[in-house]
Amino acid sequence: MEKQLEVSELSNSIRHLSSDKVKSALLVNTVVRGKMSSVLRSLKFIEVPPVIYSQITDPLNHPVDDPRFTYGGVEYSLTKSMIFHKQLLVKNFPRIFTFSPNVRLETAEKAKTGRHLTEFTQLDLEVRDATREDVMKIAESLIRESVLEVKLFYPEILEKRKNVIDIPSAHFRKYRYSDLRDKYGKDFEMETSSREKQPFWIVDIPLTEREFYDREDENEPGILKDMDLIYPEGYGEGISGGEREYLPERILERIKAKGQAPSQFRIFTEASSMGLVPSAGFGIGIERFIRYICGYERIEDVHPFPKIPGESSL
Ligand code: AMP
Ligand code: MG
Repeated sequence: MEKQLEVSELSNSIRHLSSDKVKSALLVNTVVRGKMSSVLRSLKFIEVPPVIYSQITDPLNHPVDDPRFTYGGVEYSLTKSMIFHKQLLVKNFPRIFTFSPNVRLETAEKAKTGRHLTEFTQLDLEVRDATREDVMKIAESLIRESVLEVKLFYPEILEKRKNVIDIPSAHFRKYRYSDLRDKYGKDFEMETSSREKQPFWIVDIPLTEREFYDREDENEPGILKDMDLIYPEGYGEGISGGEREYLPERILERIKAKGQAPSQFRIFTEASSMGLVPSAGFGIGIERFIRYICGYERIEDVHPFPKIPGESSL
């Protein structure tokens, strides 16, 4: 007999979904999704529907269990991110976004971070012929406009979030990955996150630290034209993105350099031979953004039905 929720766990789940924290988070969720959509629409983006399962999904750069199933004799995986679908779409639709539900069955110890769920939503976007810097500007405006909208509609939620209220109107600070690592060592990301008062960027991440699809800097071999946005006050990473590799021979080289089997990505490498276009994009985790705005210690308080790594959930 497989495990099911115990009665006590079920009543905890039901109590959780009606808590004040979840209520505030859902108000912020409504404002954030609405504002981000309207900002993107005003920038001439079109919204595409999410892909829930596919024969190809993001390999990620860290181990997770893979929820696979067979249907009609074909093997599918639940979406971990829509990176490949975005690269295919952007050829025909130069500015796209989607609210993409992702399933990543993270290892149980990830529950300790307070910022990992096994089911979450990314606002995932991609822009044809764009540079990293172009999409960084879009990200800054999504964050800033959303915060201003929350301030307008629900100032009481931001009462104790002085640094969020003071979100800068100028560009966010930018650090090079290697500079932070040299200064603070292995835990540089969380160390810097704890020290800073405002969101900041980490750029120029080494190729070994990322998946094969981010584009290498032609002027700096081994370094990618990519970026992460980190929330301050210890809230950690909120966005990952960058310019994408689109040349079929380089995509293949990068898959091999990672020690991955090209057969695993056959559909994508074949599609790349049919022609991809230069693009840049990113994904912003909605739950992590709401957690930061609300100032919650744990990400599960953002979601009425949180899926916590390693735990049984409703
Ligand atoms: P990635 O490209 O893998 O960095 O994912 C894009 C964004 O999705 C991250 O920057 C986070 O905001 C969010 N994200 C990734 N994994 C999780 C997770 N397990 N739980 C909640 N949010 C996540
Ligand atoms: Mg990331």
